[in-house]
Amino acid sequence: MKFAITSRGDSNSTSYVYRIKEYLIDFNLTYDEENPDIVISIGGDGTLLCAFHRYSSRLDKTAFVGIHTGHLGFYADWVPEEIEKLVIAIAKTPFQVVEYPLLEVIIRYKNDAKESKYLALNESAVKCSEGTLVMDVDIGGQHFERFRGDGLCMSTPSGSTAYNKALGGAIIHPAISAIQLAEIASINNRVFRTIGSPLILPAHHTCLLKAVSDNNFYITIDHLNVLHKDVKSIQYRVSEQRIRFARFRPFPFWKRVHDSFISSE
Ligand code: NAD
Repeated sequence: MKFAITSRGDSNSTSYVYRIKEYLIDFNLTYDEENPDIVISIGGDGTLLCAFHRYSSRLDKTAFVGIHTGHLGFYADWVPEEIEKLVIAIAKTPFQVVEYPLLEVIIRYKNDAKESKYLALNESAVKCSEGTLVMDVDIGGQHFERFRGDGLCMSTPSGSTAYNKALGGAIIHPAISAIQLAEIASINNRVFRTIGSPLILPAHHTCLLKAVSDNNFYITIDHLNVLHKDVKSIQYRVSEQRIRFARFRPFPFWKRVHDSFISSE
């Protein structure tokens, strides 16, 4: 089996890279950064987000596992003290795999410029480059509302505990194939009206955000934030691709939510 290791790059995380690499090579596994069957991410959730984007072209052939060298992460849920246990489990393949839904993002531009296509593991948020964001929101091909405010955030179930949670969105179990649209400070008064509640869309329902007057938007894909110019629309739906996590011990989603937000006892 082929493995790769990605690291946050700090000295602590890097020291574990060397240890794990040595152990796994001793177990006759092959280090292959290009075509790994398993990617071990050492650092935090941000490190796993980077690993996901690095290997997003071969998601059907790669499984991910995260070790956290800071606080407990949602994706990075192994502690460095468990490294020996983890290495033995990886070496004793085949391992169990758990799949989580992803968000497909298609950005279309004016003047028929080539569209951009992305996959997000956590979310995609849209903000205006200047002033209030004004966008028409279509759901399933029907006009739903004209949004005015700071922005909109479409998240995956596993991303629902990240930015979406801070916006008052619901936490969605990743066994549910859905995406969630949350408002960022919408303007609501007698003239302007939005639904004001997060919306949860099932797989195969498409949400289209259409530019109204301004066409320049900051669009995030997980930790990446890029200014897109001359945007006509942004299309969101549940992707047909999924991320695969290698599971070596039970750590139920609701326990992770509890341990991260309520108490670690
Ligand atoms: P970062 O270093 O700013 O860390 C953001 C925090 O979000 C970290 O504590 C990380 O552990 C946590 N996080 C990331 N994914 C998570 C998930 N799925 N569930 C629960 N917590 C999660 O940035 P980063 O590490 O590069 O992560 C980027 C993410 O930060 C974005 O995808 C977005 O979700 C999140 N973010 C959150 C807020 C907010 O809560 N107000 C604002 C902007 C971005």
